[in-house]
Parts: sequence; structure tokens; C-alpha cells
Amino acid sequence: MELAVKNLQVSIGDKEILHSVSAVFPQGKRTAIIGPNGAGKSTLLKALAAINTDYQGEVLLGGQEIRALGRKAIARKIGILLQGAVAPPDTTVRQLVDYGRFPYRSLFSRDVKQDREVVEWAMAATQVVKLADRQVQTLSGGERQRVFLAMVLAQQPQILLLDEPTTYLDIAHQLEVMDIVVRLNKDYGMTVIMVLHDINHALQYADEILILKDGLIKAQGNPGEVMTVERLADTFGVKADVFVNSQGKSVLSPLELVK
Ligand code: ADP
Ligand code: MG
Repeated sequence: MELAVKNLQVSIGDKEILHSVSAVFPQGKRTAIIGPNGAGKSTLLKALAAINTDYQGEVLLGGQEIRALGRKAIARKIGILLQGAVAPPDTTVRQLVDYGRFPYRSLFSRDVKQDREVVEWAMAATQVVKLADRQVQTLSGGERQRVFLAMVLAQQPQILLLDEPTTYLDIAHQLEVMDIVVRLNKDYGMTVIMVLHDINHALQYADEILILKDGLIKAQGNPGEVMTVERLADTFGVKADVFVNSQGKSVLSPLELVK
């Protein structure tokens, strides 16, 4: 299912954060959103998931304005992992993942067997089965991030939105999370839209890169086209070298600030 924004404008207080942004996030692809701190990346992601519905313009889920859909209907299509997610105290991993089933429940109905199966699947997909009975509070950063991802997966979303999912993780745990995301995209055709802090991760793991700066989209397209040395200088004010690594992927190596 395709997600798109058309002339999306978001203001917070009297400050306009996103200025008439239009973009399509193609179905089944992995799109990375990159840009400097404060560019409006998280703001864009929150509008895309209808966490913030206070916007002008349109957010279109499968061509339909997202505000016309109910909270649970949206949650069955879109899962979002926000920055700095925290679990309620005394929650075990399995309980937290089970919260992800909320869009499939009502006061009167609940398919216990289905819920259990999906929770187990979500924990397996994120490699947290062994942690199922642990308290979420006691987990390491990498474990916690995978557990929150499992909770989002329990929603069985077709579209996965991730806000800087690897921040604060060491390099191996960063790759662990990115590998899981790639596998979800490949095995289930999940559309992935991820804000990435690390430009090299965007180059390595995204089919498409969208550059956001000062509330405007500066470029969108395949990584090789979009992520040039000039664009990097424009966007981040950093001079860099580009190498092609042994996998044939471009890698940026920052040198110095543009003077
Ligand atoms: P990014 O994720 O790209 O770092 P954000 O989308 O979080 O940027 O924020 C974009 C701009 O909006 C920033 O200038 C930030 O200070 C401002 N902003 C975000 N949320 C709020 C808020 N709740 N109140 C006031 N300003 C906000
Ligand atoms: Mg952010």
C-alpha cells in the first residue's frame, strides 16, 4: 500500500515546520529520510502515521486521506517506531509485544489464538523469543529496540515507519536492526520509511533517499543519484569523499566542514 503526502504543511504554534511537502513513498520499497537536526523529519513521520493530524494538505494512504480512517484501521496498515519509546513499568517483553495487537481487539471480540501466534511470530522475526519473560526495563539498548520493533510488527502493518531506529546502538547492534528491517521488507514486502541518522546506512539500506532540510524536500531518488558530494555539502555543510566499497555501494567519508 502506497503512502504519499501532497502539499503537506505542518505548523507548531506559530512556526511553520513543514512547508508544502509533496512526496510518494513507493509500495514495497525502503525509503530513507535524511537531513540535519530540526529539519522536520520526525514531524513528517508523525503526520505520515496520523499521530499528528493537525496539518494542512493531504496524507494519502492507498489514495485515501488518512484522517478519514479510524485509529485502529490505520494501525492495521501502518506501524511506527518513534524515538525514545518507553515501556510502562513492570512490563515483560511478551506483554509489550502483545500491546501491538490492539488494532485487532474490541471490547467484545478478540482472537486469542491468532493474537498469540502473531506475537510469537513478531518475537521470532526480531530475535527476541529468548527475552520473552524479561522485564523490558532490564534490557540493553539493542534488545529494547528489537522488542519495540516486535510490538510494532504485532500490528501486522504493511507499512513500517522508523524514526532513527539505530541511534545509541553500537555498530553490531545497528546492523542487527537494519538486517531485520531489510528482511521484513524482502520477506513480507513491507514498505519501509525510515529516518536515518547515518548517511552511510541510508546509502547501504535504502532503495530511495529523501532529503529534508528546513522543512522542504531537497531531493528524492535512488541513493547514487541523490547523495552526491555537492548535495552533502549543501544539506549538511560537510565536505566528504565518496568511495565505492567492496559491495559496490557508495560510502561517504566526511572530511571537514564547508567553509
Ligand atoms: P528532526 O526530526 O528533523 O530533527 P523535528 O521534526 O523533530 O526535526 O523538528 C522540526 C522543528 O520543529 C524543530 O525546529 C523543532 O524544534 C520543532 N518542533 C518539533 N516539535 C515541536 C513542539 N512540540 N513544539 C515546538 N516546536 C517543535
Ligand atoms: Mg527527529
